[in-house]
Amino acid sequence: MRPTFIARLVNGPLFDPILYVRMLNERRALLFDCGRFRGLADRELLAVETICISHAHMNHFMGFDEVLRTVLHREDPLLLIGPEGIAEKCLSKLRAYTWNLSGTYDLEIRILEVGREYLRTVSTRADTGFGLFSEDVSPRIGNRVAETPRYYVEAAVMDHGGIPCLGYALKETFHVNIRKGALEGKGYLPGPWIGELKESILTGRLEENIPVTTNSGIAGMRAGDLKEEIVILSPGQAVAFVTDIAFTEDNLESLEAVAKGADTLFIEAFYLGELERDACEKGHLTAVQAGMIARRLHAGQAFPMHVSPRYHHRIDDIYGEMGIAKSGHPVHEFSDSARKLVT
Ligand SMILES: [Zn+2]
Ligand SMILES: [Zn+2]
Repeated sequence: MRPTFIARLVNGPLFDPILYVRMLNERRALLFDCGRFRGLADRELLAVETICISHAHMNHFMGFDEVLRTVLHREDPLLLIGPEGIAEKCLSKLRAYTWNLSGTYDLEIRILEVGREYLRTVSTRADTGFGLFSEDVSPRIGNRVAETPRYYVEAAVMDHGGIPCLGYALKETFHVNIRKGALEGKGYLPGPWIGELKESILTGRLEENIPVTTNSGIAGMRAGDLKEEIVILSPGQAVAFVTDIAFTEDNLESLEAVAKGADTLFIEAFYLGELERDACEKGHLTAVQAGMIARRLHAGQAFPMHVSPRYHHRIDDIYGEMGIAKSGHPVHEFSDSARKLVT
């Protein structure tokens, strides 16, 4: 199965943790945390439709300005998800600039603030100088905080040294595979129509007419019939992003509710185990604890990130304490328990 989510730690395991996830064959991407970054091209930033912020410590949020600078003229709205207080913080950032010439900018920013008990949505637009456009507060039911036909995002509210911090799981609704050999068998040729077919299936538009390229030209076919003929549906992919949390049972239970069975886990490993006390005081994880969490979640692969500068020269020890290889695969006991997906 070709994965739909192509995930990359923009700064690698060291430095500010930033995860860029793009969708296979689409110009759409999500960004998880947004500190100081290097190595994200403008075209990659322009594809970002959702930014998920764990918390607003500077090294997780300062890069938002840089993203904004790139996407200002874009027509599609930008969704920013973050913990309690993120709406005020984002609006303050936006209003720190002068916008008297922004009347022709189309950008709308939707801010989704995820509290323990509520969701608050605030919308603001560049052409009003980022004044308040609309606001809504509703009770928070379940962990899902955003969704599109292709994927949804779940968030866990956890504690980071006394402030709320969100952990995220990005989940594919389900995976649409084309049966091996099915195209040849039917005389169909690969082409953009396959993308159209997948989109129709994912959005439930099975009556739609799909222009199939065949050996003898283009033939219009009903999406529902093609689904029966050439498609296999399988569980979707899940990618989890977890940073800046204390190793407490409350946090782990909240995290488990969204990230259990994730195919790929990106997790902070700030200290080595020798500084467990510091980790506890500052609401961070050690590499040992990060490995324990990966096993508890039955993650298929796990990758460390946000390693403290004091351990940048000991990255092999970080992997060692986590019990994973640099490929992200577990070195020992949890290889058998690597799970495909998500309950
Ligand atoms: Zn922090
Ligand atoms: Zn941090």
